[in-house]
Amino acid sequence: MILHCATTNAGKLREFRAAAGHWGFPEISIESLPGLKSIEPPLEHGTTFEANATDKAMYYSRYSPECVFADDSGLVVDALGGAPGVYSARYAGPDARDSENLNLLLERLEVIDERSARFECVVALAKAGGLLATFRGTVQGRITRTARGSNGFGYDPVFYYEPFGCTFGEAGEARKLDVSHRGQALRAMLTWCRESLSSDRSR
Ligand code: IMP
Repeated sequence: MILHCATTNAGKLREFRAAAGHWGFPEISIESLPGLKSIEPPLEHGTTFEANATDKAMYYSRYSPECVFADDSGLVVDALGGAPGVYSARYAGPDARDSENLNLLLERLEVIDERSARFECVVALAKAGGLLATFRGTVQGRITRTARGSNGFGYDPVFYYEPFGCTFGEAGEARKLDVSHRGQALRAMLTWCRESLSSDRSR
């Protein structure tokens, strides 16, 4: 079974590709949606991860004969009233780099001691323009005062995960995937596909 993923984010793509092998779903192959770069991206105007993930998956699934999934994810910081949230990728501006977003976050939290935060992710799965299901994951942590580690992407170097005793930027990819928001949502999707789609095919 092939699942096409619709993302141009290199960090997300690495995690998506690793997922099926990592948890032992040999019958499922996750591949980038062919021609994705030449497809005009949809506008992301939803105010929830769920709405954005659903819109993206339904939109891109019209360009593939296979099931297509998309994730919408971000960092929710309590002391900032939930920001950057769905705007995580463009916190410091529409074309902001990861480092600019991360530096703005540290700046906004400079005099704040309450630094609890969570990553959230919704993965939506669609086929031929219709939504099949959505899957959610969340992981709790806190924002460090300086960036640590060069693994992962986005806000990983400032996301301290207590059970690991380090930031996601210091943890390896496989360790992060086991506990992360994206890992939880992906695993739920893979399990759903194994149970729902393979039984469809055998009918
Ligand atoms: P999206 O493409 O609108 O879903 O943007 C998600 C943004 O949230 C990314 O560009 C990162 O800034 C941030 N983000 C989401 N997941 C992660 C993660 O696993 N690690 C670090 N940053 C993340």
